Amino acid sequence: MAKKRIDTSQFRERVSTVTEEGKRNWIYATKPSGRFYKWRSYLAYFYLGIFFAMPLIYINGTQFLQFNFIEGRFSVFGKIFWPNDFFIFAIAAITAIVLIALFTAVYGRIFCGWICPQTIFMEFVFRKIEWWIEGTPTQQKKLNATPWNLEKILKKGLKHTLFLGFSLLIANAFLSYIIGSKVLFQKMTHPIDNFGMLFGVLVFTGMFYFVFAYVREIVCTTICPYGRLQSTMYDNDTMQVSYDYKRGEPRGKFKQKAELNLGDCIDCFRCVTVCPTGIDIRNGVQMECVGCTACIDECDDVMDKLDLPRGLIRYASENEIKSGKKSPMTLKAKAYTGVVIIMLTFLVALIVSRKNVDAKIFRVKGQTYQMSEDKHTVSNLFDAKVLNKTSRDIPVELRLMDVDGDIRMIGNNEGAVLKKESMNKITFFVDRPTEDLESHTSHIKVGLYHDGALIQTVKSNFMGPFK
Ligand code: SF4
Ligand code: SF4
Repeated sequence: MAKKRIDTSQFRERVSTVTEEGKRNWIYATKPSGRFYKWRSYLAYFYLGIFFAMPLIYINGTQFLQFNFIEGRFSVFGKIFWPNDFFIFAIAAITAIVLIALFTAVYGRIFCGWICPQTIFMEFVFRKIEWWIEGTPTQQKKLNATPWNLEKILKKGLKHTLFLGFSLLIANAFLSYIIGSKVLFQKMTHPIDNFGMLFGVLVFTGMFYFVFAYVREIVCTTICPYGRLQSTMYDNDTMQVSYDYKRGEPRGKFKQKAELNLGDCIDCFRCVTVCPTGIDIRNGVQMECVGCTACIDECDDVMDKLDLPRGLIRYASENEIKSGKKSPMTLKAKAYTGVVIIMLTFLVALIVSRKNVDAKIFRVKGQTYQMSEDKHTVSNLFDAKVLNKTSRDIPVELRLMDVDGDIRMIGNNEGAVLKKESMNKITFFVDRPTEDLESHTSHIKVGLYHDGALIQTVKSNFMGPFK
């Protein structure tokens, strides 16, 4: 019998989360198992550990990672970034956009299934709680259909209490990334005095609870703009979770396989029931697919049981499925990967090499030069504006570099200390021997030293008599 593809034209009529009547089609996904799920679980627990631990890590009193949009103060790797470091954030934003576009063009929506916080929390926290309390999808459906009784009240009550508890935890962690964990802790230990903060925590808790208890996969299938945009980034070489229709069709019962010359798909629907977005990957690439690979694990298990080769559903490009051959990494994929690695390396280098102290010096306005009485020394008065971006005071010493002369601090700036997270002003004289001055203006370099180590060099002009 000739192989014939099934009619899949109907599945695009509506999204998987909407019934024919236009109502919510609640997705009861089965619990996946298999090698990909195992690796996703490891990654998810690692990710969750990092997510909750990161706001508690401090380096020299600065939170390891913080994005205080309210005060325009950011800290990355324990370094504080100020509005004048905005270019780094601009480069980070451009890198993120390029990274997402190129990464998606080559590797599809792997970010959604493996790294996106929505998927990690939904699949590895909230859905696990649901499976643990309410059981399999069949048991969940049965419980929902049952009139309210003690068992249902207890199960639903426990589930939603845990959902709220985890939402509260996530809200606190989320706010810690914004206002800082120490500030949050200090305010939350006096909630009545900090009602605004308490209100904020409760609003975020409610928001996360609503998303994970009710909105769920609709975030991925309908709301998330990245999901909507992905189709514009895909081409036939994009790697994605794909059903090998050439091998699988026509689908049918295993016992009729030989008799009817069927393909390897036994139409068991395990790949559909495990799908957290409720789609049938056998209908082809769909925007609802978050690339979680749960259907690969499920189908591989079926293939193992039937003693057929794994990979009826696998990670492959459209061209690979069409040609039946494994394509080598295309030149485009290699180039895109290279660009992404270069941009990320550049960004990390920028962040790591960013100076903690930023200084500028200017000759005091309206001043020219002063000559000593014996005419051996010429002095210029300077102002240094030094931004200390760290969260600690830094004692500094100013030294004239490369030329003879001295620096004389004036005012209260003896042994200047740069106040933390502030712009500091230091006023000082530079004294130079008159005989060294070859012209009316010359260049000088002033070094800022901390604990004997040079932390920054700044340049300015030195003014002397006309020669
Ligand atoms: S799990 Fe595999 S065999 Fe079963 S329906 Fe899906 S593709 Fe076919
Ligand atoms: S089709 Fe497969 S990879 Fe895509 S979301 Fe569903 S289970 Fe995950």
